[in-house]
Amino acid sequence: MVHSYADEGRKKVGLRERLFGKSTAMQKPAATLVPSGVSQQRAGSDERIKRLWENARKLGWSDGEQRKATEMYTELLTLVDEQSTDYNICAILRNRAIAQRSLTNYDAALADLARELEIAERRGDRMRVMECRKITEETLERKRKEQIEAEGGGKAAKLKAMEEQARKLWGQPGPDLDVAFNGLFADLENNDSDIRAEASRILAEDAVQRVTAAYQEYLDSDRRRASLAGRVLGRKATRGLDDMIPAEIAQMLYGVSASFVTCACAHCGHPNKGIAAPPSGPMIPYYSESTQSGTYPIPVLCDKCGKEFFVVWDTDPR
Ligand SMILES: [Zn+2]
Repeated sequence: MVHSYADEGRKKVGLRERLFGKSTAMQKPAATLVPSGVSQQRAGSDERIKRLWENARKLGWSDGEQRKATEMYTELLTLVDEQSTDYNICAILRNRAIAQRSLTNYDAALADLARELEIAERRGDRMRVMECRKITEETLERKRKEQIEAEGGGKAAKLKAMEEQARKLWGQPGPDLDVAFNGLFADLENNDSDIRAEASRILAEDAVQRVTAAYQEYLDSDRRRASLAGRVLGRKATRGLDDMIPAEIAQMLYGVSASFVTCACAHCGHPNKGIAAPPSGPMIPYYSESTQSGTYPIPVLCDKCGKEFFVVWDTDPR
């Protein structure tokens, strides 16, 4: 059985991979347990560890097999501890988290990811910290989505309808695709923050080229619309990061002349990440305003409170 994560892995733009070279574990379970250059020729428990690791990773994505995998990783965690230099406990925690997540045991997955993050931060493993934070964000989103679906009602129906539209984004160019894209783009301004976030996620995953084109098309004619499109790209680029994204990286990721900055909402103080700005945006001081002002204002819809605020530069950052 082919699980959807495998499909996701194929179609997703491997952002971190493109940014920082090939990583050992994105959505897929980690492939390596042994830090490179470390000898593992030992008898007894080493053999057991190796066998468990190999066998767990061979299992498929059915619930039964993922339950089995969870048990194997749990046993591995009794054999490998944080002090181990021969094996990386973080890789086991990550894989168990992904197995738990596929079983929709979101809280257990989040607990493993939190532990992995804590260890990776302590070890200064920047790559792993970033991956782990990204996977944590995605897991929280899935948990939230499932909660909404379980509650039923209008919001659950809306998410279902959005899923239908997402599927149409993969179809042939034509009126159907246009309607789906325009509908999801309009949802970026929905009153509900969950709907806005889901629209952004879908557009970033399934229509990134069209969103990029919209950003460029509207940049000079409709800054508000350009900002909505740019933010879809920025949310994706800043996953797992606190920092801004400089122009060189934005160019590499999307082929656009932009940067992505973070700015607190002027109304509620929520830090809004991934705001598309001109290339020099991060280098020139900017601030947050509730009304349009300054030399170069960018309108932003706050991810949290949904109100519009402005990121403002007194010196033109273009
Ligand atoms: Zn706000």
